[in-house]
Amino acid sequence: SAAATVAAASLPINRLFAAAVPGDVAARTLGGGDTTLPRAAVQEFFASLRGQGLLAGDAGYDSARRIWNGMIDRHPAIIARCAGAADVINSVNFARENNLLLAVRGGGHSLSGQSMCEGGLVIDLSPMRYVRVDPAARRAVLGPGSLLGDLDREAQAFGLVTTAGTVSHTGAAGLTLGGGQGRLQRVHGLTCDNLRAAELITADGRFLRASDRENRDLFWALRGGGGNFGVVTSFEYQLHPFDGRILGGPIIYPAAQARAVCEFYADFTQKIPDELHLVIAMVSPTGGPPLVSVEVCWSGDLAQGEKVIAPLRAFGKPIADQVKPMRYLDIQTTADKANAPGRNYYAKSGFLERLEPALLDALVEGFRGSPKRATVAVLQQFGGAMARVPEQDTAYPGRKAAYEVMVLAGWPNAADNEENIAGVRSHWEQLAPFTKGFYVNTANADDQERVRANYGRNYQRLVKVKTRYDARNLFRLNANIRPATT
Ligand code: FAD
Repeated sequence: SAAATVAAASLPINRLFAAAVPGDVAARTLGGGDTTLPRAAVQEFFASLRGQGLLAGDAGYDSARRIWNGMIDRHPAIIARCAGAADVINSVNFARENNLLLAVRGGGHSLSGQSMCEGGLVIDLSPMRYVRVDPAARRAVLGPGSLLGDLDREAQAFGLVTTAGTVSHTGAAGLTLGGGQGRLQRVHGLTCDNLRAAELITADGRFLRASDRENRDLFWALRGGGGNFGVVTSFEYQLHPFDGRILGGPIIYPAAQARAVCEFYADFTQKIPDELHLVIAMVSPTGGPPLVSVEVCWSGDLAQGEKVIAPLRAFGKPIADQVKPMRYLDIQTTADKANAPGRNYYAKSGFLERLEPALLDALVEGFRGSPKRATVAVLQQFGGAMARVPEQDTAYPGRKAAYEVMVLAGWPNAADNEENIAGVRSHWEQLAPFTKGFYVNTANADDQERVRANYGRNYQRLVKVKTRYDARNLFRLNANIRPATT
């Protein structure tokens, strides 16, 4: 009837959707077993959401289960697209009460696909995408679905900035919780060093605020401990004045100069100021000739920067020197296309205490292109502000590392997965012996066993916090800290 149509139209969208739940829902338990959720329970859960609940077959389910790495092709039983903290509370409670495997998705850029699960419940925070800047207090508050580009753009509109990663479509949530490396890390520290407060929903469905005044143990753990402790519904960052002008861009060399460029880099990076962030990338585009590039990002006074980078510009015989004054916002998007979502990706990375000659040999000699994949091997320098934070002040491991090495490959065709993963691994086998620890945000499933050693002296404290807030390990799809009780 017309009256029924009007009544239905005025119902929230999720209630309409709930009425369409077809039947009982097969799902995966936290321990990996099978379970069935009664239709009525799922309906009631969906009706409790201000956002949207999705099941297989629903419009939007397939796009919502896709994350950045196209290789991850998982089918959760339920995706809860959360509109706010209340939805997150309801979703955490539903997962816990039904003993469901639970994944938490911020920007969806987990390389290993931890933010999507097979058969469980996904708390999808991507609808919670907002940034509010308070220019007077120099603070930014972010929703957990926000991307780094959102933070950069909003902060820069007020002449402010904080450290963010190097690809603008990466999620701020996962990046911050694991650490947050970026072009300004040597000046302003890691992204997590600029976190001033976080609001989160813990495994028991409680809402807590963590800062250096409230729930300090949690605040410590959230800065580097990843998604182990709850679902963060809001992040508050310190911002810094910045006119947004940098000296940036790549200097590109032929592959034949790779070893010499690496050697120069090893020496030059010993004596540069914190404002200079330098990254070497050995790049082999799919089927194209390999190249070596040194990416410059100088964020200090431009005239001084010209002097600082002069020895780099004078070195070797580059094919192109594209370093120029530019907007910070522009360099922050230069790698976006090369790292576009949807392709298949695989990476390995590790921290380095120094750039020793044998490592540089292994890096250069082991680097192989392939017509089936684009490959990049990257060296990035740490140090500066991120190294001045004492290792015990936050959970983030690896403050003492001087560099990081990473090998990443991307390709379009899933049929090439095995061969391309093997290609990255075979190079990595030669590099791994030089590394000590790794960045949890680029970890793979096979790094899980090394999580304890990776956190070093911070591990036991992480276990305490984990045991206090998530004794049943509801939040386990991450670089997992095992609670003392399991
Ligand atoms: P998601 O896949 O959404 O989440 C990853 C994990 O984080 C989840 O499994 C969950 O455990 C946790 N999580 C996410 N949101 C929440 C939340 N709100 N509450 C609790 N837990 C949560 N890292 C850097 O430091 N610097 C870089 O420059 C950088 N560049 C990158 C470029 C690309 C193209 C990619 C793919 C990754 C890059 N990374 C970088 C790694 C990045 O830090 C991780 O991939 C990070 O997980 C991305 O966050 P996300 O929210 O997009 O991840």
